[in-house]
Order: sequence, then structure tokens, then C-alpha cells
Amino acid sequence: MDFTYAPAPESRSIVDLKASYGLFISGQFVDGHGSSFKTISPATEEVLAEVAEADDADVDAAVKAARRAHTRVWSRMPGSERAKYLYRIARIIQERSRELAVLESLDNGKPIKESRDVDVPVVAAHFFYYAGWADKLEHAGFGTTPLGVAGQVIPWNFPLLMLAWKVAPALACGNTVVLKPAETTPLTALLFAEICQQADLPPGVVNIVTGAGGTGQAIVAHPDVDKVAFTGSTEVGKAIARAVAGTGKKVTLELGGKAANIVFDDAPIDQAVEGIVNGIFFNQGHVCCAGSRLLVQESVADELLERLKRRMGTLRVGDPLDKNTDVGAINSAAQLQRIRELSDVGEAEGAGRWSPPCELPDRGFWFPPTIFTGVSQAHRIAREEIFGPVLSVLTFRTPSEAVEKANNTPYGLSAGVWTEKGSLILHMAGALKAGVVWANTFNKFDPTSPFGGYKESGQGREGGRHGLAAYLKGGDL
Ligand code: NAD
Repeated sequence: MDFTYAPAPESRSIVDLKASYGLFISGQFVDGHGSSFKTISPATEEVLAEVAEADDADVDAAVKAARRAHTRVWSRMPGSERAKYLYRIARIIQERSRELAVLESLDNGKPIKESRDVDVPVVAAHFFYYAGWADKLEHAGFGTTPLGVAGQVIPWNFPLLMLAWKVAPALACGNTVVLKPAETTPLTALLFAEICQQADLPPGVVNIVTGAGGTGQAIVAHPDVDKVAFTGSTEVGKAIARAVAGTGKKVTLELGGKAANIVFDDAPIDQAVEGIVNGIFFNQGHVCCAGSRLLVQESVADELLERLKRRMGTLRVGDPLDKNTDVGAINSAAQLQRIRELSDVGEAEGAGRWSPPCELPDRGFWFPPTIFTGVSQAHRIAREEIFGPVLSVLTFRTPSEAVEKANNTPYGLSAGVWTEKGSLILHMAGALKAGVVWANTFNKFDPTSPFGGYKESGQGREGGRHGLAAYLKGGDL
């Protein structure tokens, strides 16, 4: 029986898009001294708004505002008072959740069901969670003295969530912040600035400066920034580590990953297939902890791949605002280019490439869910972060071979283990060099749980009690 697909688009009328946006400094939106840039919808290439590009003088003004607010107001305020502001922000995020979700999907390209059901609720949860710590710092074990001004630079894959991971613990500990969102996704950070105004947050406690790498460099290099918190690529993370070396600035780096999702032969196959799909196709695979390397035990590989392909055939790729969409748009033309190039390399190196038949929209940036089979350890698609909806499949015979293959990477952010045996889960969790190991699930984020990497995946932890250490004097883990 034929049926015609009926889309279920979320209305974008709830979002009040402005033609242009300034910088948020000292509680006000101000014009920048520099030029401006356009932010577009990656699903349609429509220009959404013109956004100010902060130059060195703007960054300096933001840092000065943050310093004033820190010295005069925020660090003097009792934790119980700071908590009230954080609770208020958390509640406003909940109240304006639909607006935030629609704007995030428009600017980023991620499916509305993810921004609505994952990103925004977890963002609110982070503010609630750290609000709870603000008056209990003496019980956390990392001291109670804030660092001062935190310079924070974040990527485009979870624009609002990465903001929450950075801003909520910093403020709870009594720091003030200058935050730069990524140049392709500035809009929800600017809406968050409006939320700070609505919450009556004292001017200068949160400052948002928009721009590209140059603006980020100006924040990192500013002499009056006490702490640099960065999430992004390993390459830029290394440059930042070099820039702050010897300055006395405290630094946390949350960088790239190439996680192994390991399926043993006793795992419930259908659940594992859901976990694999979630691991690599959630957020178009633009996830630092994406399960981009599937390691499957040889005896179940054929059956698992058959079921995985069947499941991939049901994924709906398209309009991020359609409530049925599973895989949205690739965030930028540049990222699409990187995914295409590395995928072509995979084919040239001899791996088998497969995607389900799926129609991609004519405009915008799209890449179909893709798997590569017959991948070997030496292949670039097994080694390099692809940051897209592309899965490399490798096989193993024994647990020790799985551990050896999983750890054979310069990264160490996350891993997944699928088995019915608790003892095997514990063994693998101990043996895998990864900051997070999920068992019989994947991509679960909770504000109470610390997150961070080993090796080239970064240093420091965000989230949970451990996340406070990054924003307190003497709070080394
Ligand atoms: P990116 O490193 O290119 O950019 C990240 C941010 O840094 C952007 O705001 C960018 O403008 C800014 N920037 C660029 N050059 C800079 C410089 N020299 N100095 C200061 N700031 C600079 O990364 P991206 O492409 O936006 O994000 C994708 C990367 O982020 C992936 O590698 C991914 O794994 C990583 N990531 C890591 C985590 C984590 O928690 N470990 C979370 C999300 C994303």
C-alpha cells in the first residue's frame, strides 16, 4: 500500500529573530567595534541574522565588565544569593524551552526532537544542579574561593548545552564569565543573554562576545582572564594549551574523540542496534563522544550488520523542524566537506561503504547515514575524528583484542560496552582508556556525572561535583 509522508513541522513563529545582533557586555547589547558576519540555517542556507564580530577592544571591554562584576558584586554575594539567580535562570530556560529548541534547530540544523527532548532539558538541569551547589561549596572538597574571570570558548555541536556546562558551574562558584559561542551557532547564546537580563542577573556577571577564532584567541590571550575553559577540536585545544602555558591561567580542555562502541556476542542485539544508531547518528554524529568505531564480536557481526542496516533504512533525514526527523542537517559547508573527504578516503583505502536509500533535500548541507565495513586499524576512517553520521565497523574475537583495538587511538573520551555479563562490563570499564564508559546504553548525559577525556581528548572534568574543581582556587582534581 502506498502512503504519502505527511511532515509535522514545528512552527518557527515562537522565535523572534532580529535582523542583527550586537555583543552582550555588562548587561546590555552593544554594537561591536569590529565587522559582522552572517549566521545561516544549514538546512536551507537562509541567512538568519547578522552578528557582531568582536575585536580585541570588545573582548577587553567584556573582560573589564566581568572583572568589575566579580570584584564588586558576584564574589561578595553569599552562595545562597547566587543560587537564587541560577534557579531563576533554570526556570526561565524551562519556560522558554520551545523558543530555545526551535532557535537551536534553526541555527544548528539538529532535529527538533533532540533540541526539544535532550539539549534544552539537560541545559535547565545543569543550572538547577549547580544552583544547588552554590551555597554548599565547603562540602564539595575543592575550597570556596572563585578564580575570578573565566574566558570560555565553545563549539557548534551543542551550542546551548556547552554554554550551560561552562556557565553554570562558573557562576555557582562565584566567577564571572566572558563566553564566545561558535561562529556558525551564535543565536541561542544571545537568547541566553536575554534570559540573563530577564533574570536580573547583575550586569557583567555573564558577557557574550560573538566572533570566530580570532575572538577566541583574544579571550584566551587576555591578561586579566584567570581561567580558560575550551571545548572544541584537539588542534585548537593544543594551540590554547601553548598560549596559556606559563601564564598561571587555569585551563580545562574538552576536545575530540573516536569512541569504540563494543558489542559482545551475548548482547541483546536489537538493543545494541539502537545504541549503535544513537551512538553515531544522534546529532548527525556531531558529538565528541560519538560511538564512531563499532567493534563487534566476529561471531555475531553478520547478524548485527544486517539488523543495523535494516534499522538505518528507517531513519528519516531532513527538515530539522519536522518532529519526525531523526537526522538533520550537517552544521556547515566546511564540515560537510570534511566528512565527504574522509569518507572518500575510506573508500579509496578499500573499506566497503553503505548508506540506505534516502532522498536528501536540494538545498542545505546533508550527508546520509553511512557505514564502512571491512575497516582496519590503519584506515584513516578508523583513526581520525569524522564528526559526522559515519560509522566504521571493525571486528574482534576476544575481550583483550577488543580492549587493544579500542585503546589504539590518540583519543580517550568515551566508550560503550554491550554484554549481559556484569563482570565483563567491570573488566572493560577498568581496561578502557576513556573518561566515560557506558554499559548497555550510549550518549547519556546527566549534570551529576563528570565528563572529560584522557590523552588527546583533553584535561579536566565538567559536570558533577568534579566540575566545581575547575572554577575554584586550589581545586585541582
Ligand atoms: P573548533 O576547535 O574549530 O572551534 C571551537 C571554538 O573555538 C569555536 O568557538 C571557534 O571559533 C574557537 N576557535 C577557533 N580557533 C581558535 C583559536 N585559535 N583560539 C581560540 N578559539 C578558537 O571546533 P569545532 O569544529 O567548533 O567543534 C568540533 C570539535 O569540538 C570536535 O573536535 C569535537 O570533538 C569537539 N567537542 C568536544 C567536546 C568535549 O566535551 N570533549 C564537546 C563538544 C565538541
